[in-house]
Amino acid sequence: MSTHLQMNAQKNIALVAHDHKKQDLIEWCEKHYDALKPHRFFGTGTTGQLIENALGFSVHRFQSGPLGGDQQIGAKIVENEIDVLIFFWDPLEPMSHDPDIKALLRLAVLWNIPTASNITTADFLITSPLFISEYVRVLPDFTDYRNRLTASHNAVIASK
Ligand code: PGA
Repeated sequence: MSTHLQMNAQKNIALVAHDHKKQDLIEWCEKHYDALKPHRFFGTGTTGQLIENALGFSVHRFQSGPLGGDQQIGAKIVENEIDVLIFFWDPLEPMSHDPDIKALLRLAVLWNIPTASNITTADFLITSPLFISEYVRVLPDFTDYRNRLTASHNAVIASK
């Protein structure tokens, strides 16, 4: 069984880039300015500020990534407030907040949102017709998982 979540044509896009990847993300946003403009933007603190300065987009900024911003974006994914994650993470640098990065990428997979971690994937995403249309996102049905303990506890209680 599965459940479904509706995505609007106007997407809520989370933008995150590690320090050595920030320029790549700014240039990618500039290249796709017209396609990005109709959407809404969220970002970790520094990335969000740089995108605002470079492109004039209004970006809802969370904390800087190492200060908890990645976790804040992860929470918004769980609350169905982020539709797309563009996260240019740096494969050549160890990060103080590695667990947070892993957690954010994990939640993006779990909640089945489109995610790009490099320029090419981001190019494919932004040029998809789905980027500017409504879309129904399929999710696994988490009911069995949520009930896994209550069911066995109820059985134990019933047997007493
Ligand atoms: P920053 O955070 O945009 O505040 O630099 C990015 C990150 O490291 O997750």
